[in-house]
Order: sequence, then C-alpha cells, then structure tokens
Amino acid sequence: MHRLTPRRSGTLALLIAVLAPPARAQITRVIVEKNVDTALGYSPDALRRQRAREADFRALVSAERLSAYHAGLTRRPHMAGTEGAHVVADSIARWLRAAGLAVEVLEYRPLLSYPEDIAVSLIGSDTTALRVDEPASPLDPDSRHSELGPGFVAYAASGDVTAPVVYVNYGLPNDYAQLAARKRDVRGKIVLARYGRSHRAVKLFNAEQQGAAGIILYTDPADDGYARGDTWPDGYWRTSQQLQRGNGKYSWHWHGDPLTPGTPALAAGTRLDTARAATLPRIPAAVLSWGQARRILERLAGDTVPTSFRGALPIPYHLGDGTSGRVRLRVRMRHELRTIRNVVARIPGARQPDRAVLLGTHHDAWTFGGVDPGTGAATVLEVARSLGELRRRGWQPERTIAFAFWDAEEFGLVGSTEYAEDRARQLRDGTICYINTDLYTNGRLDAGGVPSLRDLVVGVARDVPEGDGTVYDAWRASRGAEPELKALGSGADFVPFQDFLGLPTLSLEYNATGGYSYGPYHSNYDTRRFVERVADPGFQRGAQLARLLGTVALRLGESRILPFRFSHYARRLDEFVADAERWLPDGARASPPSLDFARLRSAVRRTAEESRVLERRIDSLLARDQSPRSVRRLNDALARMEQRLLDESQRPDQRWYRHLVYGWNIYSLYDGQPFPGLAEAIRRNDRSAAERELAKITAAVTRLAGGLAEAASLADARP
Ligand SMILES: [Zn+2]
Repeated sequence: MHRLTPRRSGTLALLIAVLAPPARAQITRVIVEKNVDTALGYSPDALRRQRAREADFRALVSAERLSAYHAGLTRRPHMAGTEGAHVVADSIARWLRAAGLAVEVLEYRPLLSYPEDIAVSLIGSDTTALRVDEPASPLDPDSRHSELGPGFVAYAASGDVTAPVVYVNYGLPNDYAQLAARKRDVRGKIVLARYGRSHRAVKLFNAEQQGAAGIILYTDPADDGYARGDTWPDGYWRTSQQLQRGNGKYSWHWHGDPLTPGTPALAAGTRLDTARAATLPRIPAAVLSWGQARRILERLAGDTVPTSFRGALPIPYHLGDGTSGRVRLRVRMRHELRTIRNVVARIPGARQPDRAVLLGTHHDAWTFGGVDPGTGAATVLEVARSLGELRRRGWQPERTIAFAFWDAEEFGLVGSTEYAEDRARQLRDGTICYINTDLYTNGRLDAGGVPSLRDLVVGVARDVPEGDGTVYDAWRASRGAEPELKALGSGADFVPFQDFLGLPTLSLEYNATGGYSYGPYHSNYDTRRFVERVADPGFQRGAQLARLLGTVALRLGESRILPFRFSHYARRLDEFVADAERWLPDGARASPPSLDFARLRSAVRRTAEESRVLERRIDSLLARDQSPRSVRRLNDALARMEQRLLDESQRPDQRWYRHLVYGWNIYSLYDGQPFPGLAEAIRRNDRSAAERELAKITAAVTRLAGGLAEAASLADARP
C-alpha cells in the first residue's frame, strides 16, 4: 500500500481505502496512471512531441558560439554607467536582433557610485602608502588595461580619517560581542574586517553602529586564498595581490536604486533626499588584498586574538590595543545619477503572447566580468540564439519566452529591480516563471528556487543527457541525496522577482567552489583568460547549462497545464516550521521564546491536502488528454499562487521584501532564509514582533491553501 501510494502516509491511505469505496477507486486509478509515461503538465502524446522539440533545441546549442559571445562581452572593463557598459548593452541588443528576437532597451537613471580618490596609509615614524589597486601581471595582459581603477566599496561615504586600527574578524555582531567582553572599544577607530560569512554591507553597518570612524575590508587566505586550494592563475583562490570590490549598500531595506524604493528610477521621477536614503552607508570604506592588509595586521599590538578570529597568515593576529596600527583612510566617492540600460528580448508566444517565461542575467561587471557575469550572460545569449534558430525554422512557443540582460547588478540589483518596479503589474499578471543565471564555474549543479518548481526541475534534469547519464544522475551523485532546490537569498537578480513581486523563481548555475566567491571574483583578474584556463576551458560546462536552461524554459513555455507541484511546497513548509520551532535569540543559551505554531501547522496541513486534490485532478485530466473547463484561468491561478505569500500591508520603503516565506538572511552571506521576518524577530528576541510575523505567515499559508482549493475547482474536466 505504502509503496504504491507514495504521497500518502500508509495508515491514512489504508483507512481511506477501508472506509470509503470511492477513495479506493481513486487510488486504483492513480496507480494505473503511474504506468503511463507522463511529465508534469503534458498529456502522454504531447510529452512525446515536446521531448523531440527539446532535443532539437539542445542539438543547436554550441560551445563555440557561446565562447564567441563571451569574447565579445569581456573585451574591456564595463562597469555600469560607463561607456564600456553602454557598448556591451548595444552589442547584446544587436546579437539578439540578429538571432531574430524582438528587442527592447529600457533606460533608467539610478544613483550610482564611483571612486574619485581612495588612499590607505600606515602612519608611524614615517608614512607608507598601501596599494589600493591591483598590480598588472604578465600572466594576464588584460590586467594592464587603462580603464581599470582602484578597489573600492560602492556607496561608501566620503571621509578622511586617521585613527588606530582594531581587528574585528568578520565584523559581525558576535565578533563585536567578543571584543566587548575583552573591553575593546572601536568608537572613533578604524576597523579592519575580513571578507566572508556575510555580505560586505553588513560589515559596514555593524562598524557604523559600533561607532567606528571607518572600515577596511580584506580577504584573508583562510577564507579565499591558499588555505582553500590552488590560487590564481592555476586555481580558484585569491592571491596576495587580488582584492574584492563590491557595493556596500544596506540592501536589507530595499534593493535597487537607493533613491526610489518601490518605484522605477525614471529620469523625471521623484527621489528621496540622499540624507534620508536608508540604504546609504555613513562611514568611509576601502578594500585591500591580504598582501597589503598584512602590513596593518603586523603593526597591531594588544591581546592575541580569540581562536575564531585567527586567519591563515603566518603571523600572530592581534586585536590592536587602541593606539597601535595607526592608519589614514581617505575616501572620496562620487555619487551621481547615471543612465543604465536593460536589454529585454522576446520570442512571442503563438497563442499566449501575454504569458511569459523570463530568463535573466546581468551584463555589467566590476571589471571585465570574465566569470561574473560573462559566463552567465554568454550562456543566456546562447539559449536565446538557439531558440531563435528554432523559431526561424518555423516553430513558435505556446507562451512568450523572454530574455533579460540587466545593467548595474553589481551596484545592488539595480537594473532588475527598477524593471520589476516599473513593470510590476504586467509581470505579476503574466510571468509564469523567472529564471536567473548570474555566473557559473565548472562544478556541480547549483539550483535554487521555490519548492513548487522542484519536481519540474528534477523532471527536466532526468531528460537532459550528461556524460553517460543525465543531469539528474550527476546532480544526485554530487549531493549524495535526492535533489532539492536551495532557498534563494540575495546576491543576484532573482531577488526583486521573488521577494518584491512574488513570482515563481529559479536560479540555475554550476558552481565549483561551494559559494559565490572564487579567486578573481570582483577583481581585475576576472577575465576571459581565467575562464579559458580554469573556470570553463572549452565552454563545455556553459553549453551544458544552456541546454538545461533552455529545456526548462521550453517545458514551462509549452505545457498545457503549468507544471507546478504545491505538494512539495507543503513538504518544505513543514520542514521550515520544524526548524523555526527551534530558533534561538542571538547569544541565548536558554529556550526559545515560546511561540504557538499550532495554527501555522494546521494551515500547512491544509496546503498539503488541497495540493494533493489539485494534483490528482490535473494528472488525471492530462493522462486522459482532457482539458479543464478554463485552462487559462487554471494556469493563471497556478502562476499567481506564489503572490498569496506576499505581505502587501506596508509601503515598499517600509517593507520591500514582501515575501513572508522566502528572503535574505543577511548574517549568512547570500543564503536564503525561510520565514525571514520571523527569524529576525527571534534573533533580536522581540517577542511581539515574532508573534505579529507568525500571524502574518499563518494568514499567508492559509491564503495559499485557499488558492489551491480554488484552483482545484478550476481543474474539473470540461463538461
Ligand atoms: Zn554577477
């Protein structure tokens, strides 16, 4: 019994079978249908045709073409708002038109941030300037390019501070708690923090909250250097001379343009006063390579550090005694409105042109963008070109398949966010899925997204060949367990679509290092040469990713009934609730604040029940090649189900992250955080905020269950 009805608990199924004859009949039918070769959203006949079309698409994908796109994208530095970025956007638009797609270029005017003058000097008996740029290397001629600038933290404040340095480890709340326990005060000091464990903005914010006068970030080889493995140019890890740029914007308030939360940054639009923009840091910041930061660390006196503060440099690490290691930090930034360009291209749907699958990546880069985003952008271009070729041969998708190349991602998802805010209504009504690919390196499949799309991704992975097996086989082997989609957090352009708009969202990439970082990440050395040598020699991994992405897009774009599986959502919600019941406030050893999860648990149970009813009806229609009464209304209900999990009771500048189930845990790098508002309230030990958030989550999951019941009523066969 249990074996034959895997979605039911054995006892429950047995009870139903004994007590209710109609249910027994239904179970028998489900069992019979299991023998038919089906995939989510397709009748058996339609699936055969669909698989043939998907194979046609995959045969068109070419590693050589992908490599040629990559060469064009990575020719010169192309930071957002500069001439280089405009040239790249123009090239992308031209390539997409040549591939036969309808292209739209959308301009916005956000506040961007550039270095005018960055200097860090050791102050002692004499003054020694440290290098804030990256030296050219004969191993990579690109590193000599005249348009390369110094390392900097975008949106950092301008300032000129001379003060002793305190080493603060990762610069996170627990690190400052350890410093306080040792009576180490950072007020008026310059703090030196290492990269890792959180977004860099969190380090700026904590330093600012602690009263520091400025912050210097560096990459310790323990986190991203020789202690991890082979360094550039032979391996993925950072050398003594490579630094990491990036934005320091406080994006947990809102993403995108700092001055237009919730609305598009149009040239003539109204804007916040920069003094009132909550996402702008208030202290100066600079970045150093470890070769330079070491010279500050060597001058620090005082206690040796706690074990958890120790990096991998062969020196004793000291905290600084409040007088040693005096440094002058001089930062002059220029913050100004600049024009950015998103490029969006479409293959219009034959019968449902106003319903779309949207694939996205970004085109701006801190320097050359060899890996970030050259690999991702070239891959999405190759998907677009190959589907464009199918279109030329006479095929047209059922729904629109669209491709977006966002600008100013590196400044904090600016292009994608402004677009999401600009086209909010249209996107919420008509987008069935947003699929992001920022970058890839030649490693294992790294798939994230909402649980309702997990079964689809697994189904497609079983159909895409890889080596002697399938993508699924390699994926499962690399995890050692049944594949799951990771919760998406921050750090890439899926954020506005998932967290602000509530669209069903996926991220599909390959990853060799187990995280976002790889040696040349956000450095002058992130070039084509590095990709050719280390990240993807021959661009075979990129071609494989293009085949997977395109197949997922086709499976979604062509299905009769959209292939969502909310029973898996219910299962994940159940796991998240079990986790949440064990969450503790920061630093607490005692029991968690006693919250009553009973009503949320029962809403999750109802979600599971309603989704089973819905899925049985859909599967049964498809197995018999029947359509529901209104397939369009059913599909719209399915695609918009995710939006029931949004909290829209507040203005975007008060709550821009509206998704109650998914969001960003700023204290764990770019990881996704289930129930982000609740997690934060518990972390701060704010019981009433936790209760409010729990009530909102419960209401949202109840809305989801109600939506599934409505969808089930739309999934009756046509009379
Ligand atoms: Zn990127």
